[in-house]
Amino acid sequence: MEATEKDILRGGQFLVKETSCDDIFTPEDFSEEQQMMKESVIEFNDREIIPNKARFEAKDYALTEECMRKAGEMGFLSVAVPEEYGGMGMGFVSTMLVCDYISSGTGSFSTAFGAHTGIGTMPITLYGTEEQKQKYVPKLASGEWFGAYCLTEPGAGSDANSGKTTAKLSDDGKHYIINGQKMWISNAGFCNLFIVFARIEDDKYITGFIVENNPENGITLGEEEHKLGIRASSTRQVFFNDTKVPVENMLSERGNGFKIAMNALNVGRIKLAAACLDSQRRITTTGVQYATERKQFKTPIAEFGAIKSKLAEMATNAYAGESACYRAAKNIEDRIAIRMAQGNSHQEAELKGVEEYAIECSILKVAVSEDVQSCADEGIQIFGGMGFSEETPMEAAWRDARIARIYEGTNEINRMLSVGMLVKKAMKGHVDLLGPAMAVKDELMGIPSFDMPDYSVLFSEEKEMITKLKKVFLMVAGAAVQKYGPDLEKHQQLMMAASNILIEIYMAESTILRTEKNVKRFGEDKQKEQIAMAKLYLFNAVELVKKNGLEGIVSFADGDEQKAMLMGLKRFTKYANYPNVVELRNTIAEKVKAENKYCF
Ligand SMILES: Cc1cc2nc3c(=O)[nH]c(=O)nc-3n(C[C@H](O)[C@H](O)[C@H](O)COP(=O)(O)OP(=O)(O)OC[C@H]3O[C@@H](n4cnc5c(N)ncnc54)[C@H](O)[C@@H]3O)c2cc1C
Repeated sequence: MEATEKDILRGGQFLVKETSCDDIFTPEDFSEEQQMMKESVIEFNDREIIPNKARFEAKDYALTEECMRKAGEMGFLSVAVPEEYGGMGMGFVSTMLVCDYISSGTGSFSTAFGAHTGIGTMPITLYGTEEQKQKYVPKLASGEWFGAYCLTEPGAGSDANSGKTTAKLSDDGKHYIINGQKMWISNAGFCNLFIVFARIEDDKYITGFIVENNPENGITLGEEEHKLGIRASSTRQVFFNDTKVPVENMLSERGNGFKIAMNALNVGRIKLAAACLDSQRRITTTGVQYATERKQFKTPIAEFGAIKSKLAEMATNAYAGESACYRAAKNIEDRIAIRMAQGNSHQEAELKGVEEYAIECSILKVAVSEDVQSCADEGIQIFGGMGFSEETPMEAAWRDARIARIYEGTNEINRMLSVGMLVKKAMKGHVDLLGPAMAVKDELMGIPSFDMPDYSVLFSEEKEMITKLKKVFLMVAGAAVQKYGPDLEKHQQLMMAASNILIEIYMAESTILRTEKNVKRFGEDKQKEQIAMAKLYLFNAVELVKKNGLEGIVSFADGDEQKAMLMGLKRFTKYANYPNVVELRNTIAEKVKAENKYCF
């Protein structure tokens, strides 16, 4: 059924509106076409990437390029590209699943893939003129050409608009002359085209340009960087020295570059989250396989509770990441479809569709990049000393995972963005936070109900808990906004705490809704372990919300206000019936052990 504007939540609205499980998309909803795409990506990964892991680790950049060409032949580079520019024109969910399943072999390849298909191509499909799209996109979609994205400079990282690269109009008005130094540029070593951001005169905002990579046009590269991980991802500095760029290669309008850069990053962020999923599945699989083989004290280590706990948590976080990523991806896809039905071009619709869910994109980037890191870390721990060895896959997985917390906006920046954007949306009236925040305040003043609800229906208590966690956010963030107003963003530690609460709410809610939907169609018996994962994720989320809520309350509120909020925090994070956490973890771990792989 086609989604309508009324059916789908606006970005950030998850916090104040209840979502029915029937209204969310889950990986179990993949169409036949999507299943086929998924299988073909897995098969490609198994054939081309995973067996060559040692070569990637030995910094074989040529192999990365060769595999990128092969990915082009398979059509993977063109999934998100509209058909009129040589692409497959598949929806947002399909592009997410390609990023997801292509990611597990090595972070080197998935970075090359992401930099090309995301930030290297999207600025043109989203902002290019018809001529620019006709000229460049088919080549990028087929893998004949590769793209790279030059935003970062030695002095301009998180503060991306502060770059010193300049673009000066030539005397004859036909070219811009670009001068400057870009740093950390993925795919620089083999790309044919750069998206370059530079400043014209004293403009407040930078401008985007499409720059063909021609060494005879004043473009030189630094040496390959020696990196902790993603070793076969080409990362070099790029120097522009009087590089001539035809005026028609300006992207969008003068001064619009910062907006382009940020919107490209929004898309990049959710796709990066997807690109941290299959690594978690594979690490969990490798972990359980080792744990069932490895014996200590005459017992397979998988029998030990300490190891079972790790396997259960690893699987749970991967499952939660899938749940939230595909939920948001479908929201974006539906929003794009609605906008197109309203007469927007594909380009405008996609831009607005993704922008609408920028909060969710930041949430996912942070949550899933941190989950893949802890998954790889526990993977090493399961392998013990062998985990520390280059001979086993965990070592590289751990090093590769680390970058995801840094690029596409660091996790600190994304944490602040998620809360900052939400507050801005509230101020613009796009999401009503004030009404619900006042209602929570009133509730705190009132007498709590001592009625004991009927919790016999599956997830009734968990869903009530999610509602209560939302109240914690509204209570803490609402009071902080009231106290500091727009200056809240200067109180970064509060922003971080609020963001941690927001992230846990979205992830936990998505996990519960996915499972509830699947219980309805497949039956409770078949979803026993998924139910355990949803409950375990929520339990952990509640603990995090408690900690971050407390941190906020004791830091900015005092006196009676602090007392009232502390009581509220206690009330809103209290289970009527605590789950048996050990039992939940054992249920999940036993399933992973029985299947000898991540199997959800
Ligand atoms: C392997 C790799 C590949 C990359 N690929 C590309 C690419 O293809 N194209 C490209 O343009 N860039 C790329 N980057 C750059 C990447 O996006 C930046 O490294 C990132 O944005 C952070 O910038 P920075 O390194 O200058 O760190 P800084 O901005 O100096 O940040 C350092 C620390 O300070 C924190 N910080 C900074 N500002 C604030 C603030 N206002 N409030 C609180 N904390 C703050 C950060 O979160 C971080 O913890 C890549 C980087 C790496 C390592």
